[in-house]
Amino acid sequence: MLRKKTNGVARRPQRTSILSEVAKTSVDRRGFLRGSGLAIGGLAAIAATGGTVQQASAATAATGNTEIKKSVCTHCSVGCTVIAEVQNGVWTGQEPGWDSPFNLGAHCAKGASVREHAHGERRLKYPMKKVAGEWVRVSWEEAINEIGDQMMSIREESGPDSVYWLGSAKHNNEQAYLFRKFAGYWGTNNVDHQARICHSTTVAGVANTWGYGAMTNSYNDIHNSRAIFIIGGNPAEAHPVSLQHVLKAKEQNNAPLIVCDPRFTRTAAHADEFVRMRPGSDVALVWGLLWHIFENEWEDKEFIRTRVWGMDQIREEVAKWNPEETERVTGVPGSQLERVARTLANNRPGTVIWCMGGTQHTTGNNNTRAYCILQLALGNMGTEGGGTNIFRGHDNVQGATDLGVLSHTLPGYYGLSKGSWQHWTRVWGEDFDWLNAQFTKMKGADGKDKDLMYETGIPVSRWIDGVLEDAENMDQPNKVRAMVLWGHAPNSQTRMVEMKKAMEMLDMLVVIDPYPTVSAVLHERTDGVYLLPACTQFETEGSVTASNRSIQWRQKVVDPIFESKTDHEIIGRFAKKFGFHDRMFRNIAIEDDGVTPNIEDTTREFNRGMWTVGYTGQTPERLKTHMANQHTFDRTTLRALGGPADGDYYGLPWPCWGTADIKHPGSPNLYNINLPVKDGGLPFRARYGVERNGENLLAEGVSNPGADIQDGYPEFTYQMLVDLGWDGDLTEEEKRSIATVAGIQMAEAMEGDPSAEPNGLSEGDGTQGAAEEVGEQSMSPFPSDFNAKAGGVNWKTDLSGGIQRVAIKHGCAPYGNAKARTVVWTFPDPVPVHREPLYTNRRDLVEDYPTYEDRKFYRLPTMYASIQKQDFSQDYPIILTSGRLVEYEGGGDETRSNPWLAELQQDMFIEINTRDANNLGVRDGAMCWVEGPEGGKVKVMAMVTERVGEGVAFMPFHFGGHFQGEDLRSRYPEGADPIVLGESTNTAQTYGYDSVTQMQETKATLCKIMPA
Ligand code: SF4
Repeated sequence: MLRKKTNGVARRPQRTSILSEVAKTSVDRRGFLRGSGLAIGGLAAIAATGGTVQQASAATAATGNTEIKKSVCTHCSVGCTVIAEVQNGVWTGQEPGWDSPFNLGAHCAKGASVREHAHGERRLKYPMKKVAGEWVRVSWEEAINEIGDQMMSIREESGPDSVYWLGSAKHNNEQAYLFRKFAGYWGTNNVDHQARICHSTTVAGVANTWGYGAMTNSYNDIHNSRAIFIIGGNPAEAHPVSLQHVLKAKEQNNAPLIVCDPRFTRTAAHADEFVRMRPGSDVALVWGLLWHIFENEWEDKEFIRTRVWGMDQIREEVAKWNPEETERVTGVPGSQLERVARTLANNRPGTVIWCMGGTQHTTGNNNTRAYCILQLALGNMGTEGGGTNIFRGHDNVQGATDLGVLSHTLPGYYGLSKGSWQHWTRVWGEDFDWLNAQFTKMKGADGKDKDLMYETGIPVSRWIDGVLEDAENMDQPNKVRAMVLWGHAPNSQTRMVEMKKAMEMLDMLVVIDPYPTVSAVLHERTDGVYLLPACTQFETEGSVTASNRSIQWRQKVVDPIFESKTDHEIIGRFAKKFGFHDRMFRNIAIEDDGVTPNIEDTTREFNRGMWTVGYTGQTPERLKTHMANQHTFDRTTLRALGGPADGDYYGLPWPCWGTADIKHPGSPNLYNINLPVKDGGLPFRARYGVERNGENLLAEGVSNPGADIQDGYPEFTYQMLVDLGWDGDLTEEEKRSIATVAGIQMAEAMEGDPSAEPNGLSEGDGTQGAAEEVGEQSMSPFPSDFNAKAGGVNWKTDLSGGIQRVAIKHGCAPYGNAKARTVVWTFPDPVPVHREPLYTNRRDLVEDYPTYEDRKFYRLPTMYASIQKQDFSQDYPIILTSGRLVEYEGGGDETRSNPWLAELQQDMFIEINTRDANNLGVRDGAMCWVEGPEGGKVKVMAMVTERVGEGVAFMPFHFGGHFQGEDLRSRYPEGADPIVLGESTNTAQTYGYDSVTQMQETKATLCKIMPA
């Protein structure tokens, strides 16, 4: 990867490596595993250093009936291609994809061993339930019937919100879409997934700054960066293959790499400058940097004038953060920050990369907005080599977020307003009134009628409070009584002591996963627990969205293994049980089993509704063409140079505007006004109105090349086309479709529009959703009568795509051309400010930088000041933070069950600074107790190291299966216990939730450490 290539195309045979040597010989499966296990260990070691797999000999394709299938690694958002070799239906060998622009023949330890993830012998093999404390095998029919019957009686007694459907970033896009749709048909917004606890603060912060809540550029585009600033991220372990792109910029451009982190990570080991910061002081650190930038006038004044609103208010806040104050709060010397600021100013464009070190805080949304503002001040946005490269976690956490597996949005970030639901019921061909009747109506605490269809549900971070909190304190009629954990590791969540209690209080706990997960063993239930074996993504086909918004298509590698079933089949089975299968899949073909929805038809259905984020042009056919022709895409720009996808960007990174017919190539770098919109360029999005306090929020005199409006402009509506005289560019068919959406002249419109068949739609003009699409409902910037007329049908609700097409024809972005905003007036802190964590040992800072007042949102009371006012620092003096390891992923059940990975990392541990360890009497390698201020404690091995600073301790978060010193191995179903068990850091981790999204705080709490 670091070698110079002549034409940007990797020159390496597609099928290489030791594995093909193994695959070509005839060995039994165990023999094969033994042989390739050695190889994998080698690969893991190489990849951990950012290297690549070397060819052991000339490519020797396996002979005989070997089939080659192309899939995508399921362990992180880099999206590395996996080449699977299948013999007689058995996955016998694997190699990294050499043609993939993302991994170029590299894999990390996890990717190199995904074959074992699918064929793993520790998977759940058949449905089970707990009876009198024993796991008992049941059939799928029994399981669905029993679970379904109990859910329906809970629904009858307590309402649909008493069943919580917790989905997953492990769904592919089609399954994620169906999951959210399914929750709507059940009648609840109590649906969510891991994005809530990994990047929800990114989505809210970033979307509210410039329009979309996603990574703006790509891993590959980092090749163009002149400086790389990583804060709160450790890609060397969390996204290992991404590091090859970072190191390429470092080598090719001499780009300085700056890593800000409380811990000297494996990423920091590559850095030119390591900035050790106090956990939880991100805003102070960024403001400290900006202090030098403003002081020395290093900001990009022209960029700010034309494309940024509110920077003067930021200057006022930043003025407080002189080097002395910054050092007092962050612990970083002023001289170092001055040097970093100068480096960033002298090496533009630079990119900013962050991950969960920045997001998982009570002030996470402040942190993410501060990072964005740094890039805006430097003028580093909308340019190759710049941007905010936000590395997502799980393989499809971007897609599952986009497809709306969230308690506050529908697919495409459409909000929960009536208009949004009407948009989707139009796409589904559903009777809006029928769907609405599925939801509960109740009197709120304020005495007003509430329709829970329009109210945010409980976020996953708080589901335990949905069980434990008194019902009268909640904005739903009753507690959560049944919990479905579908592809979710509970040990990735904080407050596990309370979680155990919540699991024990439930009427029923349903776990749907390839592995039993910690949900199977954390509690002491003797019945009312079901384990349903789900397929991995290697047992189905479908699309998956990488962190850079590119969508890749996975081929099915093998048929479902054991008795496992795909997520979409399981959704189909529940839909049948609940009686809405025919309604839910009326536009989607059903497979021969009469239950399972067809994947490609599902893609096509969401293509018809996902206008907001441009998931409309990525048909299965286009995505498959890209996968089959990966070698034709440039490794830096991601654009196809000739071939069948000529001109497209790899994976059609969203937004890919309009219908597939207009052949939009995708948008590789968001907000780039140096490219025409038809070629993937875009301005900042007009999401927050056109003016604020009399000031213009639209761009000043800049727009994309070829735009017929050479200035800022609002988002496109039909009325705007009329005003501009462009409505004549709409086809007759498009005009009829717009009329149907607007609810006018239905009968006439139906004559020529097959999509406008009678569907029971009886009210609403369908345009209200325009105002409330992305992220938080509170950020709706538009006046209430904005969409009151037919002319308000806009680029998001027009089902024909005509408005988008015409806007682009005239060189304009469908969503308008605005300034980015640095001040989010709808958030608790409009200007990002530093606030001390709830559990802080810097009592001297609490008065100056207090947390929020307690308040209620997302249906639940949420504590802030009532915790922070208590001083725990005497008894719990050490700051506790957490993070990832290269060998494991998420809660770790899959990867700890993988023998090749398990061998590499066998013990849960805590990193303790040498001085602290010596003072505490803790020896390296000895066991110690770590206790959090809420009383949760874990018994783990000490790693005494200088990687953490004095007064800070670090634990990885992938372990589970031990609880407060007890080994729970005997509670797993026989043969399904992960190879490696260990304490979860989250048993000791504490309360604390972001003020906008309810993200959990895992990066800055307190603990005490004692020899065990
Ligand atoms: S875990 Fe991530 S970096 Fe590693 S092989 Fe899989 S996709 Fe690539």
